[in-house]
Amino acid sequence: MNHLAPTPEMSASLALNPDQFASADGQKINLIGIPREQLAHMLEERGHKKFRTKQLWHWLYWQGVTEFDAMTNLSKDFRRQLAEEFVVERPTVSEALNSVDGTAKWLLKFPDGNEVETVHIPEADRGTLCVSSQVGCTLTCKFCHTGTQRLVRNLTTSEVVGQLMLARDAFGEWPTPSDHSRMITNVVMMGMGEPLYNYDNVAAALRIVMDGEGISLSKRRITLSTSGVVPAMRKCGEELNVNLAVSLHAVDNDTRDGIMPINKKYPLEELLDACRTYPGVSNARRITFEYVMLKGINDSDTDARQLVRALKGIPSKVNLIPFNPWPGSDYECSSARRIASFQTIVQDAGLSAPVRTTRGEDILAACGQLKSESQKMRRSERDALAAAHLAAQVAGQD
Ligand code: SAH
Ligand code: SF4
Repeated sequence: MNHLAPTPEMSASLALNPDQFASADGQKINLIGIPREQLAHMLEERGHKKFRTKQLWHWLYWQGVTEFDAMTNLSKDFRRQLAEEFVVERPTVSEALNSVDGTAKWLLKFPDGNEVETVHIPEADRGTLCVSSQVGCTLTCKFCHTGTQRLVRNLTTSEVVGQLMLARDAFGEWPTPSDHSRMITNVVMMGMGEPLYNYDNVAAALRIVMDGEGISLSKRRITLSTSGVVPAMRKCGEELNVNLAVSLHAVDNDTRDGIMPINKKYPLEELLDACRTYPGVSNARRITFEYVMLKGINDSDTDARQLVRALKGIPSKVNLIPFNPWPGSDYECSSARRIASFQTIVQDAGLSAPVRTTRGEDILAACGQLKSESQKMRRSERDALAAAHLAAQVAGQD
């Protein structure tokens, strides 16, 4: 007996849920997003040797090819068999927009009609891809456009990995380039959705992204942002060990309850405890606390001092995010002067606290502005909003 043969339980866990990996036409299985162990199991079940997985993986995630015919070191027979059952697909791009500041946004449409957005933000020393984890979000934070979207479902592993694959297609980043020459050097799970409410698929996708024989992005270049799903934070640290960003936005329970309903379930004390004990956290690997500046809500000097006290003992950095308006939002962004005063208090306490520059606003690609087709604005509305925001910014510089 081959003692390495999988037990029935193991086979069950390696079995693929075909719905999760269906091709766009529903006829075949999309190989993109299938975890490596499951891919190996599937090929072995079909009588293929183990090393075939490594070869196929290389074509999919190092070379980035989408045609089996291009996989030249695979026998013709193997390629034919693959083509009968499988495809290599990316999500369909229904709209691609470019901001005047270089930010790019892709609106992706899935076969069930649902849509999400992926955003690329180029900076002098890096290029960050902001990836979505869900269609919409169940969490309804009051300041966030995504939270107002009615339709919600988890993205599959294919749909999460697919966002990075298609961005790499767009930048011609195949085969996997060396670190320093990439347009996409960093990935942040900060698009639509709460990644820790879709933990299994996000984790499987990030394992593919981190695989050194494929896309090969280091865990140090991946940041997962959560609104504070406390029970999943430790698991995320232990299993993936990616950087953590926490959407804090307020440091007293009353204010946070008012703007982020999840605080009623996992209040600040529990959230900050989970941060303090996040696996791998150290002064070299700090937790990023995101803090959206909302006029009159969370932006006083007292709030800033309370923030400093709350973060004592947690290796932290703070990202101050000017609130980005969206049609129908109830809030205003704090004035530039207010933000500067808040920032000074936090920085004087020894914490790094950059004010995040708003990017891609003219194409509604900025934080919290993502929302897909069902309730998307028309071009004219978008232009009107951009103009209104510009006027507000000028006024805010008093
Ligand atoms: N659901 C996750 C990740 C996506 S949101 C989370 O909440 O962390 C990404 C970041 O954008 C979060 O910090 C979120 O609080 C912030 N954000 C949401 N709406 C915003 C808005 N209108 N202006 C500025 N930032 C916003
Ligand atoms: Fe969801 Fe994050 Fe938006 Fe809150 S801020 S509604 S958790 S996407």
